[in-house]
Amino acid sequence: MIAVALDGPAGAGKSSIAKELAKRFSLIHVDTGALYRAVGLYMLRQGLDPADGAQVIPRLPEVQITLKFSPEGQRIFLGEEDVSEAIRTPEASRASSAVSAIPEVRAFLLEQQRKLARENPVIMDGRDIGTVVLPDASIKIFLTAAPEARAMRRYKELMAKGIDTDYDTVLAEVKERDYRDSHRETAPLRQAEDAVLADTTELDFQGSVELLASIIGEKLNQVR
Ligand code: C5P
Repeated sequence: MIAVALDGPAGAGKSSIAKELAKRFSLIHVDTGALYRAVGLYMLRQGLDPADGAQVIPRLPEVQITLKFSPEGQRIFLGEEDVSEAIRTPEASRASSAVSAIPEVRAFLLEQQRKLARENPVIMDGRDIGTVVLPDASIKIFLTAAPEARAMRRYKELMAKGIDTDYDTVLAEVKERDYRDSHRETAPLRQAEDAVLADTTELDFQGSVELLASIIGEKLNQVR
C-alpha cells in the first residue's frame, strides 16, 4: 500500500498541500493534527487542563473520534458532532499542543492512524508520521519554511476565517509550538533519516504543490 508520510512544523502548509496532492495521486489525505486537536478540544470542554496528564489520561476512553473522508477532504467528529471548524481556534491549537506531549494520548491515537494507512493509500500529515506512526512509509517528506513565513500564512488563514488576531501573536505562537513540538520527550518533531527535505519559504502554494508532486512522482517511479 502506498503511504506518503508528510511531517513538518506548524504552518508549513502540510494540510492544504497534502489535500491537493491527494487529489492528484488518488490518495486519502489524513490530517493527524486534527486528532490531537479533537482530544484537546474535548478536554477543554470538560473544564480540564489539557497539559495535566493526571486529568487527561483517565478521560481518554470517553473520547470518541471518527474521521470521514470525501473528495472535499477530511471531516472530524467528536461523538455525533462535526468539530472540523471548532478545532481550529487558537485555544484548541494550544490545547492540542499540550495534550500531544502526553505519551498516553499519542498511544491512544496511534492505532487509529496505522489502521487508516493499512486500509487506504494515504498521504498522512503530522509531526511523527515518518518516524513513529509509519516508519515503513514508501515516501517520506519533511516540509518546512521559516517561522516568519509560516506565521504570515497562518495569520492570513485565521483572518480569512474571521478569527481576530495579530501577526506578532501568531508568530509567537508558531515559535512556541515549534519549541514544544521539537523538545517534548515522546515523538518529538524531527526529520526521519530517510525523509526528503522540502523548504517552501520562498515558494507560494502552487510552487510548493509542484515541488512535492515532483518528489512523490519520482519516488513512485522508484517504488514501482
Ligand atoms: O498540524 P496541527 O497544527 O493541526 O497540529 C496540532 C498539534 O497537534 C500540534 O501542535 C502538534 O503538537 C500536535 N501533533 C502531533 N503529532 C502529529 C500531529 C499533530 O503531536 N502527528
